[in-house]
Amino acid sequence: MSQRVKIKALLQSQQTDIDVTVKGWVRAFRSNRFIALNDGSTNNNIQIVVDFENTDPALLKRITVGAALSVGGKLVASQGKGQTVEVIATDIEILGDSDPEKYPIQPKKHSLEFLRENAHLRFRTSTFGAIFRVRNSLAFAVHQFFQERGFVYLHTPVITASDAEGAGETFHVTNFDLDNIPKTDTGEIDFKQDFFGRPTNLTVSGQLEGELGAMALSDIYTFGPTFRAENSNTTRHLAEFWMIEPEVAFSDLNDNMDLAEDMLKYVIRYTLDKNADDIEFLTQRLAEEEKQKPQNERSEMTLLKKLQFCLTHDFERLTYTEAIEILKESTPNKKKKFQYPIEGWGTDLQSEHERYLVEKHFKKPVILTDYPKEIKAFYMRQNDDGKTVAAMDILFPGIGEIVGGSQREERLSNLEQRMDEMGIPKDELWWYLDTRRFGACPHAGFGLGFERLVLFVTGMGNIRDVIPFPRFPKNAEF
Ligand code: ATP
Ligand code: MN
Repeated sequence: MSQRVKIKALLQSQQTDIDVTVKGWVRAFRSNRFIALNDGSTNNNIQIVVDFENTDPALLKRITVGAALSVGGKLVASQGKGQTVEVIATDIEILGDSDPEKYPIQPKKHSLEFLRENAHLRFRTSTFGAIFRVRNSLAFAVHQFFQERGFVYLHTPVITASDAEGAGETFHVTNFDLDNIPKTDTGEIDFKQDFFGRPTNLTVSGQLEGELGAMALSDIYTFGPTFRAENSNTTRHLAEFWMIEPEVAFSDLNDNMDLAEDMLKYVIRYTLDKNADDIEFLTQRLAEEEKQKPQNERSEMTLLKKLQFCLTHDFERLTYTEAIEILKESTPNKKKKFQYPIEGWGTDLQSEHERYLVEKHFKKPVILTDYPKEIKAFYMRQNDDGKTVAAMDILFPGIGEIVGGSQREERLSNLEQRMDEMGIPKDELWWYLDTRRFGACPHAGFGLGFERLVLFVTGMGNIRDVIPFPRFPKNAEF
């Protein structure tokens, strides 16, 4: 048997009248003659032409939607329209049957909710094939971007004893018998008897450890899973998501913004180029979906235009203080249309505010800087005004916050003072503080939520549809 050729390669083949072997899953079978076969290398199917008069009827009956086939035959120029080449089958082998009465994925449009419940099979649809190929390209491009710039990929721990943000939204890690948890004499949980001899949790961010690496390797990035037990049932939050966190020595807030903007543009450009067909497919999908909405809610740009727009325009950079002024004076605020009215300087921005700035006011990605220190993490560098910190959030249309970053506080006394004010235990973070004791230097970094990026590039509306098996409150199926 000749070697299996991927359908994507076959469809691009310059050569015809050659013997080929192709393997994949049946997407459709019509007139007992034409099989649409797909192997996930592209959304385009290869047409297999079956000589039904000379094929065992029992075999024909087993060519059903979802079945896995191996087909040997000749690749020829196609007579029909819709494809340039097709395979005239000489040999069909059923590798795996699929009972058409029971197979959930029918050749029709299924709702995204239905497919989420069938996440084990949704890869076999065109939409999810496109999404996961785009996700793959984005991940690869992230690595390529940093590797080209000499960054070191650092693996930070998944199990940690620290809660980076002090937000307390962590999943505990324990191997206690939950029916019989050891207690101390005073009735508290005796973590000394637990696996690590102390309370531990799944990481919410690799940043603190990333900073340790940057203080020797200069430029590092992490790309790994993070976990947050936040009970937020939104279309932008997952309990398990992937985060990219570069950390750069000898770098300030401006360098940090440049790096983030360059990176976002690089990975989007890479994917537009590499996955042109998939982006085209997803653009069509979104256009169809938008047609269901009332005219005034439809977006002005197609997905493809939105992505291209992002590449050709500088992100708008302004301070939190300037943003608050814009929001205060905005029509929705004056007409009391915001669910959370802008109270004035110091209020945390909600997603509706971020999206107003991006989608209505500037109509492009926005970077907000210099937030009030009260609403940001302890490690952000304090500005001279005594009120703000050198933070930056990147806001994207349809998403809101996609990146959160800052220049870090490298001055030991400032950092300790802020930790005291915010009740962050200094003794537990002795190792973090050591970097400020031995060779501290200005440095900066950010966290990019990978699924938010995939959400933006695919034009999907729910973050649960851009990770293979989403974890969210009350759901850990598969
Ligand atoms: P948000 O306000 O949207 O909850 P955050 O301020 O908690 O975000 P950070 O702690 O700055 O976010 O995390 C860095 C990035 O990780 C965010 O910019 C976002 O892209 C992503 N992110 C944060 N929480 C989640 C989540 N639960 N699911 C998916 N991505 C997330
Ligand atoms: Mn959050």
